[in-house]
Amino acid sequence: MDGTLINDRAPSVAIIGAGLSGLSAAYRLRKQGWKVGVFESSGLAGGRVQTVHYEGYVIDTGASALAESYRGYLQLARELGLGAEIEPAMPAIGIVRDGTIHLLRTNRMMRTGITTGLLSWTSKIKLLRLGFDIVHAKLRGRLDYADMRRAAPLDTESARDYALRVLNGEIDSYLGDPIARTMLITDTDKISKVELFSGLANIMSTRILAMRGGQGRLPEMLAALVKPQLECPVLRVTGSDDHVEVEYRPSGATDSAVQRFDACVVCCPLFEAVKICPDLQALLQPLSSALRYTKAITVAVATRIRPSCPAFLVQLPSCEDPDIALMFVEHNKCADRAPPGRGLIGVDWEATASERFFDASDEDIVAHTLKSVIKVFPELGDQIEFTQVTRWAAALPLTGVGAYRRIGEFNAALDPKSRLQFAADYMSAAGQNTAVEMGARAAARITANFARPAVVR
Ligand SMILES: Cc1cc2nc3c(=O)[nH]c(=O)nc-3n(C[C@H](O)[C@H](O)[C@H](O)COP(=O)(O)OP(=O)(O)OC[C@H]3O[C@@H](n4cnc5c(N)ncnc54)[C@H](O)[C@@H]3O)c2cc1C
Repeated sequence: MDGTLINDRAPSVAIIGAGLSGLSAAYRLRKQGWKVGVFESSGLAGGRVQTVHYEGYVIDTGASALAESYRGYLQLARELGLGAEIEPAMPAIGIVRDGTIHLLRTNRMMRTGITTGLLSWTSKIKLLRLGFDIVHAKLRGRLDYADMRRAAPLDTESARDYALRVLNGEIDSYLGDPIARTMLITDTDKISKVELFSGLANIMSTRILAMRGGQGRLPEMLAALVKPQLECPVLRVTGSDDHVEVEYRPSGATDSAVQRFDACVVCCPLFEAVKICPDLQALLQPLSSALRYTKAITVAVATRIRPSCPAFLVQLPSCEDPDIALMFVEHNKCADRAPPGRGLIGVDWEATASERFFDASDEDIVAHTLKSVIKVFPELGDQIEFTQVTRWAAALPLTGVGAYRRIGEFNAALDPKSRLQFAADYMSAAGQNTAVEMGARAAARITANFARPAVVR
């Protein structure tokens, strides 16, 4: 019991989707005394944040890391008693060039940025211009995640077009690509310049953190409080002046059922929201046509020894490896990810390669993955303990050129007084923090506008 008392006459709210957005909205509304019904189509809560425990390894199969700038997420974790469970990753990242890992110390970014052999002196001097553009954008409020409409004037070209126009090809390859691949697991030609600017601004000014015991702990704890109904897909949501109707298929049933609520928060991915909210096509369609979701393949590679690399993340630019974008050195991200003396490498495939290999066999995916892993960490050649493949059919909403403009327009068009609210990561820069914050924002709108529960504690 968490001490929240819910009155029988309390108003009711339906939450569609038990990912971090839905769980965060449900938790906040339940705390305010609302009767909360959470519907989840899959058999698991947590959505794209999942942790698998296997033979002493802790494997984050979806969302992998946090940033110190994740204010809403960290606040929620503290409220749930998980604040002390969050620890900083080792302060180093590696970027591969010509097969060599170039280390950048994230706690001494300026100094290692100047001395690194990753970039030529010409590029380092040109980076002053990039720094100027980012500071200028920040000062004008153009990188404000809470209101991405303000990024619209920047959202005019791809990160690659910007780099080639203003900087040079070397910076695009060895700085732009690693950032794009970290933010959206894809290359600079597919993402907006906005993503490059905000990614760099973030990486320069924040520490990377991880949850002990796995990223799945936060959603698991929330799910234990709000008890989602699993395998219960929602088929349709319709709003009227005084209630919202939710049609869903109860777990194991063939026929659908309909339930009435005082309010509803739709927290599923955008393409799913379009399907289940037929009355809101005019609002949802323009954004949906601008935001396609990428596919992702992640492969956990458990190893009998730890490679000597001190970085928590090794980034592979597309010219070094077109298919593999990132290798999280998981035991450097958080010590508990592998048993003592053993190692865990979390490999993220680039989005286009994920699409190409999505239906390939696990054996083919693993063989291709290991070739890259061993090229980067030759000492792991005969030290692989086991591998585990995860496929994400809808991984991340791809913010190509113009997407932030549409996201801004979508947020501006939402009616803050409606009984039907939305919360999901597609409403700003995708990530766990956006999900948590959007959930909290939707909950706040509902509590501000509708019946005050009779008993709250
Ligand atoms: C491979 C990968 C790596 C990532 N790495 C990071 C990272 O390092 N850091 C970071 O911050 N973020 C990362 N993310 C992004 C982060 O996981 C997401 O932004 C966030 O979890 C989204 O939460 P959400 O609640 O908005 O959506 P989801 O987690 O997708 O939750 C939506 C839920 O709705 C359910 N649903 C769908 N349709 C229906 C329906 N009709 N009825 C009922 N339920 C429905 C789904 O099953 C799902 O559980 C990563 C994501 C992926 C895939």
